[in-house]
Amino acid sequence: MNKMTMDLLTKICDKCGGRCCYYARPPLTEERISILIENGVTFDEIMFREHRMLDCKSTGFCIGYKDGRCRIQQVKPETCVAGPFTFDICDGKLEIYLKKERICDLVAFLKSDRAAYDEQFELAVQNIRNLVRALPPEELQSVCRVEEPDTVKVAEYPLEEVFNNDRRD
Ligand code: SF4
Repeated sequence: MNKMTMDLLTKICDKCGGRCCYYARPPLTEERISILIENGVTFDEIMFREHRMLDCKSTGFCIGYKDGRCRIQQVKPETCVAGPFTFDICDGKLEIYLKKERICDLVAFLKSDRAAYDEQFELAVQNIRNLVRALPPEELQSVCRVEEPDTVKVAEYPLEEVFNNDRRD
């Protein structure tokens, strides 16, 4: 993505007030936890439940959210990198969803700029595929039980393709 588009996306995110970081609780793989710990996140800021996730502060905002921005932008979890795309697993398929415009201001911009949309979509799918492959099956099932309303399906891939490391890596 060129710098101008990247700056524009950052500006849109800065204006939003962190709606996607409010009770976000992004899922964490073993590897992501190590990276986060190396970058200043503490074990107290990670929740160990049916799946591992970043905790929220008492305000409801993610522990990574500070002064209107993500303080761990460079190492943030896969589902945060993928936004405003998200995912589910259903009937042996990995389904990719896009948030509706009313809940994410980035969506209108991406829909108006095909190149930016395609680039973010590719980044999202790659990160989601990495996450799906890295999570233990029971944690993946738990992640998929989290409701994601106000989204529209935009693509789907057979799961066997997702777990085939030879494809698109
Ligand atoms: S890690 Fe960053 S982008 Fe993800 S929910 Fe937390 S503050 Fe938001």
